[in-house]
Amino acid sequence: MGDDRADRIAEFIEPLRVEPGSKVRLAEDFDPGFRAGVRKKKDGVELLRGGIEQLADCQRRLAAQDTYGVLLCLQALDAGGKDGTIRHVMSGVNPQGVRVVGFKVPSNDELDHDYLWRYSRNLPGRGEIGIFNRSHYEEVLVVRVHPDNLRRQKLPDAARGPDVWKRRYREINDWERYLTDNGFRIVKIFLNLSKEEQRTRFLKRIDVPERNWKFSSADVRERAYWDDYQRAFSKMLSATSTPWAPWYVVPADHKWFARVCAAAVLVHTLMDIDPQYPQVTDETRRELAEVRKELEAEAPAGAAPDPYKKKTKNKKKNEKRNEKKNSTKNRTKNRTKNRSADKKASS
Ligand code: ATP
Ligand code: MG
Repeated sequence: MGDDRADRIAEFIEPLRVEPGSKVRLAEDFDPGFRAGVRKKKDGVELLRGGIEQLADCQRRLAAQDTYGVLLCLQALDAGGKDGTIRHVMSGVNPQGVRVVGFKVPSNDELDHDYLWRYSRNLPGRGEIGIFNRSHYEEVLVVRVHPDNLRRQKLPDAARGPDVWKRRYREINDWERYLTDNGFRIVKIFLNLSKEEQRTRFLKRIDVPERNWKFSSADVRERAYWDDYQRAFSKMLSATSTPWAPWYVVPADHKWFARVCAAAVLVHTLMDIDPQYPQVTDETRRELAEVRKELEAEAPAGAAPDPYKKKTKNKKKNEKRNEKKNSTKNRTKNRTKNRSADKKASS
């Protein structure tokens, strides 16, 4: 059953995966409106509910095992839906096990360090899921599209040469490989929005008063660089989708579908890790039995020695009784159905 589900999820996300070594042309290779045959939003919401439940279960096990960490990197153009994706996909997960970090224009202190410094300081620990809302990939996106950013990074001349992007791709790949080898899995999602959908979303931010706060004229100015960003994204996806940390290009024109995909990609990685609750040794089990005896002996007069055990016993009994009741009900229903079918046939 578990394997079946894992196979279905792998199949679902396969068209979104950037094959390592392939050359991506974003506009031709990935359709922002793709819905993988899920026609209705209602069906998408149902799928997302399932994904959220699986995520919550995996995250509990990840935290209990305390061996692996997961880093989700979310990249998108403005209005791509990063915030909403995080809010919806992580809605069922224990907030104690998740840390979201957003990366903005670097501070002076950050510019005083190497470009990966601020990202490594914010990595998740073992047992945690970390989410980067924008990530180290800005270092080959916005920094590439606006070379002023590179000038502000105070790099020595030799580190600023024409091969800077190629070198950064290699450094990022090496860094991610190092993290993966040490138990930190990297999940990379690019929310792929169309230019027209971005225009509509900006207008919505102007038209709906409750959304005015989200509107930024700087975002609209940035839209003028659309083609430069598409090129920078295509090059980045081609160079940094690796077997240990592949990119997933998630169609983002339908928010509900983007959320289903993001949840599926994350669940896929967690299922692959397959974190397990720590095994209890025989000695611990014996210890638990002894402590239970002591606690049961402390029960005040009239109280059950172990109220929890009693509750679960009753629950199981009720479940069995309901199961029996339902199967009798179904048998009677079927018999009535068969009888009326017989009657119809003979009349
Ligand atoms: P929101 O949905 O709230 O708008 P946001 O991620 O767009 O979220 P903003 O504060 O609007 O947040 O924008 C952050 C800005 O910081 C972006 O324009 C992004 O390009 C920029 N930025 C991020 N990393 C870097 C970097 N390394 N160098 C220069 N600019 C960066
Ligand atoms: Mg913004």
